Amino acid sequence: MQGFDETFDWVVIGSGSGSMCSALVMRRAGKSAVILEKTGLVGGTTAKSGGMMWIPNNRFIRAAEPAESAEKAMQYLDAVCGDSPDTPGTNRENRQAYVDEAPRMLDFIIEQGVEMERATTYWPDYYDELPGGCKTSRVVGARYFNLKELGAWEKRLQPGFLPFPSKLDDGMRVAFRNKSWRLRLLFAKIAFRVVLARVTGKSYTTAGAALQGRMLKAALAAGVDIRTDSPVRELILDADRVVGVVAECGGRRVRIGANLGVLVNAGGFARNQQMRDKFMPGTRADWSNVPEGDTGDMHIELERRGAVLAQMDQMVGFQTTITPNFAKEFVKPPGQSLTGRPGAILVDQSGVRYLNEGGSYELYCETMLKRNRTVPAIPSWAIFDQRYAEDYQVAGQWVGKARKPEGFLESGYLKIAQSIEELARLVGVDPATLAATVKRWNGFVEKGVDEDFGRGVREYDKWLGDPFWAPNPALGKIEKAPFYAVNIVPSDVGTYGGVLIDSKARVKKANGEPIKGLYACGVTTASIFGGVYPGAGASVGPSMTFGYIAAKHAAAL
Ligand SMILES: Cc1cc2nc3c(=O)[nH]c(=O)nc-3n(C[C@H](O)[C@H](O)[C@H](O)COP(=O)(O)OP(=O)(O)OC[C@H]3O[C@@H](n4cnc5c(N)ncnc54)[C@H](O)[C@@H]3O)c2cc1C
Repeated sequence: MQGFDETFDWVVIGSGSGSMCSALVMRRAGKSAVILEKTGLVGGTTAKSGGMMWIPNNRFIRAAEPAESAEKAMQYLDAVCGDSPDTPGTNRENRQAYVDEAPRMLDFIIEQGVEMERATTYWPDYYDELPGGCKTSRVVGARYFNLKELGAWEKRLQPGFLPFPSKLDDGMRVAFRNKSWRLRLLFAKIAFRVVLARVTGKSYTTAGAALQGRMLKAALAAGVDIRTDSPVRELILDADRVVGVVAECGGRRVRIGANLGVLVNAGGFARNQQMRDKFMPGTRADWSNVPEGDTGDMHIELERRGAVLAQMDQMVGFQTTITPNFAKEFVKPPGQSLTGRPGAILVDQSGVRYLNEGGSYELYCETMLKRNRTVPAIPSWAIFDQRYAEDYQVAGQWVGKARKPEGFLESGYLKIAQSIEELARLVGVDPATLAATVKRWNGFVEKGVDEDFGRGVREYDKWLGDPFWAPNPALGKIEKAPFYAVNIVPSDVGTYGGVLIDSKARVKKANGEPIKGLYACGVTTASIFGGVYPGAGASVGPSMTFGYIAAKHAAAL
């Protein structure tokens, strides 16, 4: 087809997880590749994320635990995801493609110089009690990274939330440093590295920014053409084949040809309130943790070109608490640890518990939204006592001390009362009901069994609790006055619905046939895990892997 301003073998829309991985595959095969990023920063939500990837049967777990296998991973995914007409994004073929190719993708990026490691030996799958579930860890991440290695590109990487030379897991564990000398030592070690970095002129980052920083460095070294401020507006078709895109590069409208194909890795629609109202009513863009470029433009364009949208009501919920400073927070205060620690429960506006406060954040928020259809549950209330408030932070602050964090009381955010009944009145809940809920909960803790929701049974609930709390790290009584309440709402770390792809990452039409020349990965697609989040890294892992699969298919490798 004539009329292109320029042509590449591989054109990638968006600079998310799979983009640079796919472009690296292409460069290794001697093909040219361009990444067109809408915003002024490279890396997408991925760079702002934890950067964890859920990769079963990866080289690290295989070396440490010979019982791990692809079969076990498939058994787990079959049990967790299942197959349902409501979630056509997941099917055995796509899951098998993931389980087979994700470890290969990991080996490939390591060969390209991207330093990766097992995130920890203890980050259980989110449904570890199911067949094939892992009680240790299938999670991998990038080693922390010195941003100075990016040279002029340093300032063009989407910032991360943990600008420290440490593992994400270490960063989370130091929250318990008041309970362990070993963790105090770890904290001191990280603090020493921070000082050393300052003295030696290094600028470290970890988590998603480390992953995307390392991927960016590898992609630039391999000669990938990466352009920021270059939104793609349209896909170009020649008969039934996608042959290029219309983009705005440097304010100029350009037609860019793609010899081998176009990969759409343009994120989701978490920041588009109109789309949220249409597909997931009751959820809010301003509660989301996702950067503002995540507006679903490519969902709309892909549908216009014959792709099928599915699972559009799905998001990766991540509960939060709306503090006085909420709007200014780079990452919204995590509500998961808040109610997951022993000695806190979650109740709806009738004062009743309605879920396991442990478990997957995706399931937690889904349950909140469902509950809210019958009993007002947005916001719900986290209820805890003085012992809890002395042991754990709430929204990054110590609320159990005599002097309360600035604004917490004045704004009405933190509710405190000498009795559960008085606390109930403060949050507008029937006092007798809340008192009965807390009594019932304390009874469960005494027995060591949550008879209502099974909290504390799965390993992941325990992981979320307090490792220094016995006998069950997830179960603790609420008994020492004063008593506290803060709100909890269903925020998110992204949407989880989009176009249907096949096991080669090709975008499918309504008749199930692939659209020639068109690939997609990441949260632009309907998750290959359906409406379930199987473990930490179930967004970034598939995005990277299907980017890898797409490029291999397009280059016939
Ligand atoms: C705080 C936080 C922690 C998280 N932790 C994890 C974790 O540890 N593991 C995990 O798996 N998930 C995690 N998530 C979720 C995860 O980060 C996202 O779901 C994932 O990164 C999405 O990746 P992606 O490849 O689909 O796209 P993204 O990384 O979102 O990238 C898409 C890019 O496309 C660009 N774009 C959009 N439209 C266009 C257009 N028209 N033209 C050109 N470019 C366009 C966007 O600007 C963006 O840069 C976390 C999220 C947050 C916010």
